[in-house]
Amino acid sequence: MTISRKDCVALDAADPLRDFRDEFVLPEGTIYLVGNSLGAPPKAASAALTRVVEDEWAGRLVGGWNAAGWFDLPETTGDRIAPLIGAGPGQVVVGDTTSIAVVKAVSAALRLRPGRRVIVSDLANFPTDRYMVQGLVKALGGYEIRDVNGTDGLDEALGRGSGDDVACVLLSEVDYRTGDRHDTAEVTARVQAAGALMIWDLCHSAGAYQVDVAPADFAIGCTYKYLNGGPGAPAFVYVHPRHQNATEHLLSGWHGHAAPFAFEPDYRPAEGIRRFTVSTPHVLSFAALNASLDIWERVDLAVLRAKSTALTSLFIDLVEELCAPYGLTLVTSRDPERRGSQVCFAHPDGYPVMRALIDRGVHGDFRAPDVLRFGFAPLYIRFADVYDAAVTLAEVLEKEHWREERYQQRLTVT
Ligand SMILES: *Cc1c(COP(=O)(O)O)cnc(C)c1O
Repeated sequence: MTISRKDCVALDAADPLRDFRDEFVLPEGTIYLVGNSLGAPPKAASAALTRVVEDEWAGRLVGGWNAAGWFDLPETTGDRIAPLIGAGPGQVVVGDTTSIAVVKAVSAALRLRPGRRVIVSDLANFPTDRYMVQGLVKALGGYEIRDVNGTDGLDEALGRGSGDDVACVLLSEVDYRTGDRHDTAEVTARVQAAGALMIWDLCHSAGAYQVDVAPADFAIGCTYKYLNGGPGAPAFVYVHPRHQNATEHLLSGWHGHAAPFAFEPDYRPAEGIRRFTVSTPHVLSFAALNASLDIWERVDLAVLRAKSTALTSLFIDLVEELCAPYGLTLVTSRDPERRGSQVCFAHPDGYPVMRALIDRGVHGDFRAPDVLRFGFAPLYIRFADVYDAAVTLAEVLEKEHWREERYQQRLTVT
């Protein structure tokens, strides 16, 4: 074999990020390769929630909105996420969910390009990103969606129709199903050269590596995947400073009003990034997210990326070596530059294979029709975990454990 388990243990001992694992709660005997779906809880999350409930909520009651800074959480938390995605202060706001963030970004982009009636959307986009745009188009009337397949056909989509008709393009930096990563600078330049606005979905980027959002017009993303903010943690929206006061989004809620406590009968947008908030922030969810951001403040993102590519490359090498005879096909790019922090393999019986693997302590997930997904959160996944996961996968395939009847039935959440 290319590498032994002992070599992996040695890599872990030399890993500059090794101590971060102790800051997370991870069940004994589980290799958790689903941090790209729901990040593991920071140990500090529980105390942070208790502190907000007992000190701030019980201690100050409604006074917490001022005294505990609840009202400003969307902006103060946004400023903490900003460095992780290459943004500056006052450029990111946190709240709602990614689906809602899609509506905010796309509706704001459309207002900046009056006369252009086309939204370019990727068939590979996460379904909710597509559904929300479809709903928006239905509600607004007069707009049209032009589908592309990744960046294939993007130039054609941008140049087609009656000349300059594309208002904005919505793509995910990392494809949730394949793990492939776009060259965002190149794609953004192409889109903007056509006079359209670029919106990036960073759900599978933020916390996986240093994102460079700066050239984009808008970006959105969630905080419960690699950022470990907890189930249902709020989403973020980045708006380039040149657009912030030049447009409005569809969801004109009172927290985005210029004077929310003037209780005026008519909407007037706040100046700056605040206008991209909608309504009352989920204060308890922010508490857990901020406990995680306390960790992120201490992470060197260049070191994180180096470990991430080492983990994903090792997993590809080991699986290809150990599982060669069993019909797995690598879905993710072999070029580390062109992937996020996840590796996917296709297998015709992917669903029962994943169920059998989970039963043996290796947690990945399955995405229809045939994709086995493995996410590698570099803060808490070790090289030895990668080794053990590959060996267990080979065992499941070799011994055909996955053929057992109990693995065939689909559960609601895959
Ligand atoms: C996880 C994910 C979402 C989830 O959207 P919610 O509104 O938080 O349910 C949306 N888009 C992408 C690309 C995702 O990866």
